[in-house]
Amino acid sequence: MLKIDMHTHIMPDKMPDWAQKFGYDGFIHLEHHKAGVARMMQGEKFFREVEQNCWDPAIRIPDYEKYNTQVQVICTIPVLFSYWAKAQDGLDVSRFLNDHIADIVNKYPKNYLGLATIPMQAPELCVQELERCKKMGFVGIQIGSNINDENLSEAKFDPVWEACERLGMAVMIHPWNMMGKAQMEKYWLPWLVGMPAETSRAACSMIFSGVLERYPKLRVCFSHAGGSLLATIGRVEHGFNCRPDLVAIDNPINPREYIGKFWIDCITHDEDMLNYVLKMQGSKKVCLGSDYPFPLGDLEIGKFITEMDLSEGVVEDIFCNSTLEWLDIDKNRFL
Ligand SMILES: [Zn+2]
Repeated sequence: MLKIDMHTHIMPDKMPDWAQKFGYDGFIHLEHHKAGVARMMQGEKFFREVEQNCWDPAIRIPDYEKYNTQVQVICTIPVLFSYWAKAQDGLDVSRFLNDHIADIVNKYPKNYLGLATIPMQAPELCVQELERCKKMGFVGIQIGSNINDENLSEAKFDPVWEACERLGMAVMIHPWNMMGKAQMEKYWLPWLVGMPAETSRAACSMIFSGVLERYPKLRVCFSHAGGSLLATIGRVEHGFNCRPDLVAIDNPINPREYIGKFWIDCITHDEDMLNYVLKMQGSKKVCLGSDYPFPLGDLEIGKFITEMDLSEGVVEDIFCNSTLEWLDIDKNRFL
């Protein structure tokens, strides 16, 4: 059975000296201090330690073979989005990251598909990069759950949705820049509490502002099984019904109607929760994702799914059909 992991991250092993080029600091790069391990640095500040599978496409392929997974959809690591940079500099960073991913996909066309990154701080520059990436073979983009604290409901992002719909580029929404992080550094709370809330923030912003209504062919996937959205859909719907003066001001359609119209990945780490999201979304809207190579991901690449009591059809939907449809690509590409 074809297995496609649609949620994985990668970065270049060497980055340009952006601080010197642009004249200000804060960009991410790797410091290769010993074989197979590197320090991810944000300017001069240590961010996290990563291993070779974070930057080396060749060693990831046998790693995936251990879990019978042939294809990885790669995108950058959200901390590299650089939305905070000046507009043109953000475009330069995006172009560099996209050229890197395009090279990998060209070199290993049976093993890799790419999601581009775009300078969301400058929606007008995003469109040209989307068009360039489409020509380079990208099947979609990954963007953050907020853009420098602004929600995806802002009208200024409409040109991005319009271009993605027109070009047929899928959109993955990934949590980052977590709300409240300064107040909850302890216990890894930005990752454990902030990330699921961020994804729901993005999904609710796109639903309530009518983005999914105005761009009906836009193919959106929300990371980490939609964050907290599906677990709280009853509350979200009740809020829509009891305070339409606050909630239904831009879109009169019940938020529950959108469930099953977008895609989510399967990263739940919990069989009951996966059964629940399958029931809510339908198996054709739940994709195999891992968040490889990071420790909070499902690094056994869908193993728990094969151990659940799911029909072969449902497993096949999760392992490949949902992702093929989300990305609008033909299965034969990998056979
Ligand atoms: Zn991720």
